[in-house]
This record gives sequence, C-alpha cells and structure tokens, in this order.
Amino acid sequence: MNFHNASFKAAYGTSEQLPASTGPEVSFAGRSNVGKSSLLNKLMYRKGLAKVSSTPGKTATINFYDVDGHDLVDLPGYGYAKVSKVEKGRWSELIEGYYNQDRDFALVVSLIDIRHEPSALDRNMVQFLMDAELPFAIALTKADKLSKQQQMKQRAAIKKALKLPGGVPMVVTSSEKGDGIDELRALINRAIER
Ligand code: GDP
Repeated sequence: MNFHNASFKAAYGTSEQLPASTGPEVSFAGRSNVGKSSLLNKLMYRKGLAKVSSTPGKTATINFYDVDGHDLVDLPGYGYAKVSKVEKGRWSELIEGYYNQDRDFALVVSLIDIRHEPSALDRNMVQFLMDAELPFAIALTKADKLSKQQQMKQRAAIKKALKLPGGVPMVVTSSEKGDGIDELRALINRAIER
C-alpha cells in the first residue's frame, strides 16, 4: 500500500464508540514516550499527523488513520506515572476494550525503547498478545541513541526478557534516522495482504 496516501480518520475516547473493522487493521501499542507518534509520522511520511507528545500520556484516545484505504490504529501510550487512577483506568479500558473486540487484527506493532529493559507493563502487553494469539511484531525504538553493537546486544536482551518465540519479527527502528522504517512498512504490507 502507498504510505504517502495517509490521513487522520477519527479519535475515540471509549471502546464502545469504536466502529466495526472495515478490513484488516494494524495497531500500535507502547508505553507513553516510547516514540509511537514519531514512528507513525515517519511511516506515513507526515510530520504532524500523529501528535508528538510534549506532555506524555496526556490524551487517552484511540486514533484511526487511513493509509491507502487501510486502518492504522494508534492506541494510547500506557505507563505514564503522573496520571490519576481514573486516567489509568481509562487507558486499560481503551486498550483491553479494543483487543477484546471481534476485529480484523492483521498485525499489532508493539513498541519497546531499545535502550531499556522492558517494563512490567511492556511484558504484560507482549504476554497478552501471545496469550490472545494475535499476530504481532516488536519495533525497537530510538536506535540512533545506541551504537550498532549496543543495538545488537539490547535486541538479544529484550528478546530474552520478553520470552519471545522465534517467529516474532523484531525491527530495530529510528524515527530520527529512518532505520527500519522500510522494513516495518514491508511487514505491514505483508500482514495486510495475507
Ligand atoms: P509517544 O509518546 O510514544 O508518542 O512518543 P513521541 O513520538 O512523542 O516521542 C517521545 C520523545 O522521544 C520525543 O521527544 C521524540 O522527539 C523522541 N523520539 C521519538 N523517536 C525518536 C527516535 O527515533 N530517536 C530519538 N533520538 N528520539 C526520538
């Protein structure tokens, strides 16, 4: 699909508001500040389409983008410490609500910061995807912050920490430098055309 042909579709504040899938969907999940908006903008060749957060975790909505007639779904960033219990509850309602619906899940892209050991929430997210048998891939973000050698080391450490089975694709990405973006587009294309 043509990633240049991208536009914002809609934002939803509760999972009940979500419309039924209109075709295979690719969703993006990760902790707040992981670089999700930056990655989405890079994928869609559009700088300001997904809002890069100055206040992490501020807006908890599910945002739908249309890319060449296919839905890309941006889930709210989880794990921002400085939000209220109510806001955290809203986050889980949205994310669990979305994945518990009977939708056409083509691929879940689970974002993890390449510099850090996955958090408990990251591990929960990936475990949930494995338990639910959803097709998913890991995008390691902010690779430009590490040397190539450190990237390799962290990739292996994160794979181990997440207990990932062999077949799960892991893409090392940098929205700053463009690493891994074409590879991620190719994965998304394959998932949608399956
Ligand atoms: P989100 O909260 O997951 O949507 O994360 P954002 O895309 O808003 O990014 C959070 C912060 O990380 C911002 O200051 C970005 O400029 C920075 N960031 C995102 N991606 C990269 C990257 O690939 N490399 C570097 N060096 N910084 C990044």
